[in-house]
Amino acid sequence: MASSKRQLSSGWQTTRTRIWHRDNGRCQGPYCQHRLFYSLPLNEAQIDHILERSKGGTDADGNLRTLCRRCHCLRASIAHQGMIAAALRDGLIPSDWRSLVWED
Ligand SMILES: [Zn+2]
Repeated sequence: MASSKRQLSSGWQTTRTRIWHRDNGRCQGPYCQHRLFYSLPLNEAQIDHILERSKGGTDADGNLRTLCRRCHCLRASIAHQGMIAAALRDGLIPSDWRSLVWED
């Protein structure tokens, strides 16, 4: 998972927990096969910025959503490209992952 100083702060942990509860622990990816059936444990859930921070997105709840790792790394975002290599290595996504990339 991409890390940053912000994500290590206790404030972010509080936010992360709140968003996960709001989303009932479910991935909000529009094409996620897990979306309706599967609640992610908090330690596996990833919190995505809908409007990327590099584009002015904030940490406000309305800009955050729960995603599974697979949906998170397959979201069309330059900020997530670093996640692809690790996901390939772990077998989380197939070698033709480019066809699975999604956008809002
Ligand atoms: Zn998902």
